[in-house]
Amino acid sequence: MTSIKNINQIYFHEDSFKMLPNRINEIASKNESVIFFIDDFFKSQMNLLSFNFKGYSNIYFNDTSSEPTVELIDFFVDSIKSKMINPKLIIAIGGGSTLDLGKAVSNMLTNPGISEDYQGWDLVKNPGIYKIGIPTLSGTGAESSRTCVLSNKKKNLKMGMNSHFSVYDELILDPNLTATVTRNQYFYTAMDTYIHCIESLNGSLKNLFSDSFSINGLNICRDVFNSDDFMSDENREKIMLASYYGGIAIANSMVGLVHPLSAGLSSVFGSHHCVSNCIVMMGMEEFYPEEYLEFKSFISKHNIHLPKIQNLDLNSHTLKKLYDATIIHEKPLKNALGENFKEILTYEKASELFRKILL
Ligand code: NAD
Ligand code: ZN
Repeated sequence: MTSIKNINQIYFHEDSFKMLPNRINEIASKNESVIFFIDDFFKSQMNLLSFNFKGYSNIYFNDTSSEPTVELIDFFVDSIKSKMINPKLIIAIGGGSTLDLGKAVSNMLTNPGISEDYQGWDLVKNPGIYKIGIPTLSGTGAESSRTCVLSNKKKNLKMGMNSHFSVYDELILDPNLTATVTRNQYFYTAMDTYIHCIESLNGSLKNLFSDSFSINGLNICRDVFNSDDFMSDENREKIMLASYYGGIAIANSMVGLVHPLSAGLSSVFGSHHCVSNCIVMMGMEEFYPEEYLEFKSFISKHNIHLPKIQNLDLNSHTLKKLYDATIIHEKPLKNALGENFKEILTYEKASELFRKILL
């Protein structure tokens, strides 16, 4: 069954960021009822964002050195509530981390309890504060998906608030905003879309609706990463669209094996989502053979550096933690490997894969 929550409005063109004042005027009457979450890359160079922030007092910069945690969301929500303002609009400007932050805070401002109560499927009860997503880095599909992924150290868990309420109300997709991303980061994040599309297409939950988006997203990724300059103006515009497609594809099907293993790396080592995915792809020969070869060809064509986990001690305790943080993701594992996924991805098999990609 496909049940789709649409985004009300999408502005997708070069310079569409200039639509922002207009959108704010229509949605929020007072400046103080607007809350900005902005990737802290822009903090020292706000001139890259052609918008007059004067008069807006609720601007929160998101430190992306670690990805959003449940504690971070609760911290921002408490801080906003303590100001006794009446928020009408949340605007998130940044990569997947900042887009997820905007969604989660929006949900938590209108739902009781703490954010970890909502990690799972369809637990959010009330619509959040109206939100506009403005990606400055393309690939996670956070702008179009129905989740916002949060780490929960206490529970050794990385899981989203999967809900129709986690879908942005509006998007401003302006490829000019991604021009300053470093090459490696651009590659890792764009590959998230590639991986969303291949996992969706290879999973048992694939369906006509998600396939249409995955196929289009995948074709764009192939086109862009088979070309010489994957960050040309035209290619940044294409990847912005592919990211959007990939987000819709997974919102209506499911990711596969790469994401649970990658979530294991993120939970145990704190490594970021997109680079973790790329590290996992290097061990996927057995499970996604054609895509594994294609992915490797992109890495070598563009001379991409894949970092190693620092100070790694892959002992049995670490492997067990990695396994636990992977196997908990039952839905994607079932999608990729079937009902008997635990018989295929045994502790021994997972340890073999982790050794292959990490050592
Ligand atoms: P990110 O948001 O963590 O940012 C990565 C780096 O890129 C940061 O250093 C940031 O400052 C920098 N950056 C962003 N925009 C820039 C710009 N225009 N110029 C220069 N630098 C820029 O990275 P990401 O890969 O987009 O997002 C990863 C997050 O997305 C993870 O938290 C992951 O869990 C989440 N995610 C969410 C979904 C979803 O559906 N909600 C799907 C996949 C991943
Ligand atoms: Zn992903």
